[in-house]
Amino acid sequence: MKTISILIPAYNEEAVLDKLFIRLSKLANQEKEYDFEFFFVNDGSRDKTLEIIKDYAEKDTRVSYVNFSRNFGKEIAMIAGLDHVRGDATVIIDADLQDPPELIPDMIKLWEEGYDDVYAKRRSREGETWFKKTTSKLYYKSLQKVTNIPIQEDTGDFRLLDRRVVEALKLFRESQRNTKAMFSWVGFNKKEILYDRDPRAAGETKWNYVKLINLAIDGITSFTTAPLRISTVLGVIVSVFAFLYLLFLVIRTTFFGTDLAGYPSMMAVILFLGGVQLLSLGIIGEYIGRIFNETKYRPLYLVEEYHNGKATKKARN
Ligand code: UDP
Ligand code: MG
Repeated sequence: MKTISILIPAYNEEAVLDKLFIRLSKLANQEKEYDFEFFFVNDGSRDKTLEIIKDYAEKDTRVSYVNFSRNFGKEIAMIAGLDHVRGDATVIIDADLQDPPELIPDMIKLWEEGYDDVYAKRRSREGETWFKKTTSKLYYKSLQKVTNIPIQEDTGDFRLLDRRVVEALKLFRESQRNTKAMFSWVGFNKKEILYDRDPRAAGETKWNYVKLINLAIDGITSFTTAPLRISTVLGVIVSVFAFLYLLFLVIRTTFFGTDLAGYPSMMAVILFLGGVQLLSLGIIGEYIGRIFNETKYRPLYLVEEYHNGKATKKARN
């Protein structure tokens, strides 16, 4: 029998876990031709999330989990899950029921037809502000433009991955991760299914704009060096204009003499060039920062405890 792993990153999700578990169990009971593994990654929750998961694990051998030594973030929680899941296929799903588990049987069907990466595309996003929708749309448009990798729009991490895609993703050991872009990067046989995204069932979103902006910058800097080129191009353009202006000044002074005007225009040029230089330095700095972080070769995460459905191991890493 084939095994389907359901991978659930969870950070302070005590309010929704019961609802999620009921819906997942119902689904697993309906899909009798498959074995299921419910794999929770407890990402350093400060509430009762871990206790609840342990409780499920005691009663149900389908439940496995890893417990992180602290909060590492959803991107890291996902790779930890992929490192540990045992399924022939793995479904990544949010704990807050914004991704309806009822879509999983359709995903499995498409997987059986031979697709390796069945991703759920949002038809609508209820309960999200107009501002969040527009900014996210704009961001994906521009990321697509600069990276030259087809990126699935309106798609989150809710998807079914065949074992070979999981193995491919496990090869990505970079510490600043943008998993969404990795799904695109690895390629394989992709298929979309449409769904309506529900509002969070309970609890609060863990994202704020600072986190989202960081994710957005990571997404760009981890996948393209285009911004470095932008500063090169900008530098060339500004230099060419500055050179032409210089020629003009020399000629004008030679033939018409000087007048002492020009203080404001000089200030403008100095300030403008200063700004461009700072921007370019900042862009270079972003990449040097990434190099710095990646060359440390730190482990991506530390496991405090791992439960594989039957036994619990206190991890020594
Ligand atoms: N999550 C996580 N670690 C974090 C933040 C979030 O594992 O540091 C999990 C969270 O428990 C949920 C999923 O990632 O299962 C999506 O988080 P959330 O619903 O807060 O994000 P949103 O849906 O608002 O984008
Ligand atoms: Mg959510």
